[in-house]
Amino acid sequence: MTPAEILRRDLATLSAALSLEPAGARLEIRVLLGHALGVNRAWLIAHEHDELPAAPLEKYQALLARRLAGEPVAYLLGEKEFFGRSFHVTPAVLVPRPETELLVELALEKLPPAGRALDLGTGSGCIAITLALERPDCGILAVEQSAEALSVAKQNAVRLGARLGFYPGSWFQALPADTEKFDLIVSNPPYVAEGDSHLAALAQEPAEALASGADGMDDIRLIVQGAPAWLKPGGWLLFEHGWDHGEACRDLLKQAGFCDVETRADLAGIGRVTLGHVCARL
Ligand code: GLN
Repeated sequence: MTPAEILRRDLATLSAALSLEPAGARLEIRVLLGHALGVNRAWLIAHEHDELPAAPLEKYQALLARRLAGEPVAYLLGEKEFFGRSFHVTPAVLVPRPETELLVELALEKLPPAGRALDLGTGSGCIAITLALERPDCGILAVEQSAEALSVAKQNAVRLGARLGFYPGSWFQALPADTEKFDLIVSNPPYVAEGDSHLAALAQEPAEALASGADGMDDIRLIVQGAPAWLKPGGWLLFEHGWDHGEACRDLLKQAGFCDVETRADLAGIGRVTLGHVCARL
């Protein structure tokens, strides 16, 4: 078979199974076929009428079957691009999302020169490792409760040549008592409400990275409560949250004594990150 024949054969099946637009399904077929063949999409387009060898075709068939069963493309490829770098991902970690780049941009804006930053629930490590690579002058620590996820994050740090510290454990409890305070704490915690119908579409990703109590804010509350004790005067807390959490997050931060509290919208115009800083004493 040729790449063109495969596209013709599989396009309708894939777009129907996953309710994808034809353009999206075509892209995915090319990505999976390219991965099986070890070539990029430009090669596939240039060679669309070439007969393909049997072994990579079988590999492609297996990938397509898993995709049709709902596995995210990132798990099939074992990697996902985030902030211009490729991160290794497995089903033990949430697939990095483009929305989360907003969180990183804001963290880079708020992190002072030679500052110290903490990433809570690092997962693949995409936030902490990006900070460490973009700001090698800063000290970055990352915390993660899942041992499997922590191992993925550590592999990513090695693969991308980032220098940062990793601690296993739950939120602030993971930090040794003598840890110095931070200029910035950042997190993309689990924030989907337990009964949310949206969770079904995320069933292949780790539930503990997604769901957080009846309103999706259990972990956010723990983070906001714990953060002041670990922030230097003037230090920033910023975290990602659900589309309808903005106001509740701002209230939480204000109640916990944070200043200049605001919510920033992602490219889709959805309030996605709330931030504030410990009021500096006058
Ligand atoms: N952004 C993810 C989603 O709803 C959720 C990520 C999270 O809970 N941190 O698709």
